[in-house]
Amino acid sequence: MSEVRLRFAPSPTGYVHIGSLRTALYDYLFANQKGGKYILRIEDTDRSRYVEGAVENMVQSLLWAGVKHDEGVFIEDGKLIQKGEYGPYIQSERLDIYKKYIDELIQKGKAYYCFCSKERLDKVREEQKEQGVTPMYDKYCRNSDKTEAESRIKAGEEYTIRLRVPENKDITFEDLVKGNITINTDEIDDQVLIKTDGFPTYHFAVVVDDYLMKITHVVRGDEWLVSTPKQIILYQAFGWKIPEFIHLPTVLNKDKKKLSKRQGDVAVSDFQKKGYLPEALCNYLALVGWSPEDNQEILTMDEMVKQFSFNRVSKTGGVFDLDKLNWVNGQHIRKSDLDRITKLAIPYLIDKNYITKEDVNKRYDWIKAIIASVQEKISYISEITDKIDIFFKNEIVPENDEAGEMLKKEQVPDLLQALKNEILQIDEVDDEFVNNIFKVLKNKTGIKGKNLFMPTRIVLTGQLHGPDMGNIIKVLGKQNILKRIEYVERNLIK
Ligand code: GLU
Repeated sequence: MSEVRLRFAPSPTGYVHIGSLRTALYDYLFANQKGGKYILRIEDTDRSRYVEGAVENMVQSLLWAGVKHDEGVFIEDGKLIQKGEYGPYIQSERLDIYKKYIDELIQKGKAYYCFCSKERLDKVREEQKEQGVTPMYDKYCRNSDKTEAESRIKAGEEYTIRLRVPENKDITFEDLVKGNITINTDEIDDQVLIKTDGFPTYHFAVVVDDYLMKITHVVRGDEWLVSTPKQIILYQAFGWKIPEFIHLPTVLNKDKKKLSKRQGDVAVSDFQKKGYLPEALCNYLALVGWSPEDNQEILTMDEMVKQFSFNRVSKTGGVFDLDKLNWVNGQHIRKSDLDRITKLAIPYLIDKNYITKEDVNKRYDWIKAIIASVQEKISYISEITDKIDIFFKNEIVPENDEAGEMLKKEQVPDLLQALKNEILQIDEVDDEFVNNIFKVLKNKTGIKGKNLFMPTRIVLTGQLHGPDMGNIIKVLGKQNILKRIEYVERNLIK
């Protein structure tokens, strides 16, 4: 079998949508499983939708996500470069190639020049709508004389080139996810292949490029399913081998509508900014529309590469569930090395003024202890800042009445006195202190269990629940613990 080759072919309209990242991910998983290649091609022939800087952003998002391509467009030293033997991989740089292939279709009589003005086309469309028929080009120029057309072009007339769609012919293809699909060509427009600005349309460029780049599997969202028969007509017009088609179910929101920017974050960069882990985002996205045989939910990239199959991609929409993503991300955070999570968290802590840049080197172990105390409790990294403010305010505020009442219990003053006595005997909190303190307090005061732990937690944090007590004591250190005890004694115990 020839080498498996897949492509991800975004249009540079601004950012990578998470639905598109899933498409790229499936390309990547399948190509890597089969020892093939996955390429990144930029489809920028719609000049009206072009956004400056979009290509760079998109390449960066894919790289961040770890969905690494083998060929196509890359960034090196901040510059866009292209690698691979089938380039250029940016469609606007391939215009001479499209020219060659459109000439071939004209020669073969499979495409024709069209001089219809926009006004005429609009009028035809309006009339068709009034008659209740599906608007389609009325084939006005289909049988015009080619030599005459060529002299009109020489004279400077504006024109497009259209596909001569065969009449009344069934086009059948098998989609690896959606199954067999048949459509009659009478329902297909004589679509434009070359626009008045000389640029190819998506349909034409995509077929020429997929052929020349030796793509074996075309994977894309199912909004393109209706385009596939048109593209097959083009393959047939050229006499080219038709690739496998795989149309993926749309990524939906909880209301089963297409996931769009209006409802919140949809750009990969949004998730990057919030501190999702790339491997977790990929893990979760892979599961929106696919599941491994054993329904395992937490998977590494390598496990997904091994287990992925288009046979197990569902036919209909997968729902993007933020709670589930948060859970998956949380699982990956817990599995991660503490140093990695600490490094990822540092920019957020600096941003919120919890730490300074100088602290990063000077007090790295302390920062690490802060992160350790919440690693088990966060869903994404930026959430850390909400969970750690307890470490930075010595004026304790009980989080609710229950916490406030707990401090008023009879044994609390004795407990605080005992804790103060112990802590005054040490220079600084260390592991030994942390490991023994509750045993010592219990022996000295006779207070135990919930009556020992709960008030201590509230005195130190104001909260009934939260990070592990050992971590809290370590992060706060001697002076902060003393300040908190004194604050509580002065203000909250009567
Ligand atoms: N350029 C199209 C897009 O932006 C790609 C469609 C395809 O993969 O054929 O989604």
